[in-house]
Amino acid sequence: MSIIKLSNVTKKYSNGTTALRNISLEIEPGEFTYIVGPSGAGKSTFIKLLYRELKVDTGSGHVAQYDLEKLRHRDVPMLRRAVGVVFQDYKLLPKKTVFENIAYAMEVIGKNPREIKKRVNEVLDLVGLKHKIRSFPNELSGGEQQRVAIARSIANSPKVLIADEPTGNLDPENSWEIMNLLEKINLSGTTILMATHNSQIVNTLKHRVIAIENGRIVRDQEEGDYGYDD
Ligand code: ADP
Ligand code: ADP
Repeated sequence: MSIIKLSNVTKKYSNGTTALRNISLEIEPGEFTYIVGPSGAGKSTFIKLLYRELKVDTGSGHVAQYDLEKLRHRDVPMLRRAVGVVFQDYKLLPKKTVFENIAYAMEVIGKNPREIKKRVNEVLDLVGLKHKIRSFPNELSGGEQQRVAIARSIANSPKVLIADEPTGNLDPENSWEIMNLLEKINLSGTTILMATHNSQIVNTLKHRVIAIENGRIVRDQEEGDYGYDD
């Protein structure tokens, strides 16, 4: 049974731009999939549908056990618990420490302080940043901020981790460090979906590649290539 499935999904913005046309795909639990394609192709829109930042217009789909059409507004937090998200610009809360940034994700789902403390230390250990637990985001490098964002995204042990250009603001060394972490998280069983413009990574660390152009899936390849010149 697929962990992500979309059937004939379309998405049009209120200004009339059709961002996705008739998208169908299935992703199995534990897969690592890259989403590639030119700027404006629809990658971010696709990702936003999966964690219900946006609603599908027509078509159907599910992520984990959550039906993207029928999910009620009040159940969106449950979907977000099953789906961790990492962004290009980290999106850490600037006035909260590293500990508080990660703890917050667990507080909102009602974990107790003892569990939170234990898990925050665990995920910071995984990303190699236990010594930064009391730092604020602006005291960290970009690579460190992204590692904290990854720690936060997995704090609630999501089944799916979605990353929208996670290495977009990082130099190659930090980018590879982030990829090592994502590989490790994938090997522990988490399904990973990553939108990227990084051809070196896609061509080196081989995984399934889904290419979107002009709102349509134009390629879906096991161990695929990046396939663009940029
Ligand atoms: P990229 O995905 O290349 O990093 P953006 O997501 O900023 O770039 O934008 C991609 C395209 O989407 C651009 O053509 C931009 O003008 C358009 N775009 C982004 N946000 C909006 C919006 N709110 N309204 C209209 N167009 C938008
Ligand atoms: P990508 O992530 O591949 O760069 P996007 O999903 O951001 O592509 O954009 C797909 C299309 O939808 C583009 O034509 C873009 O201009 C448009 N778009 C993106 N966001 C908005 C928005 N909020 N309002 C209107 N159009 C948008």
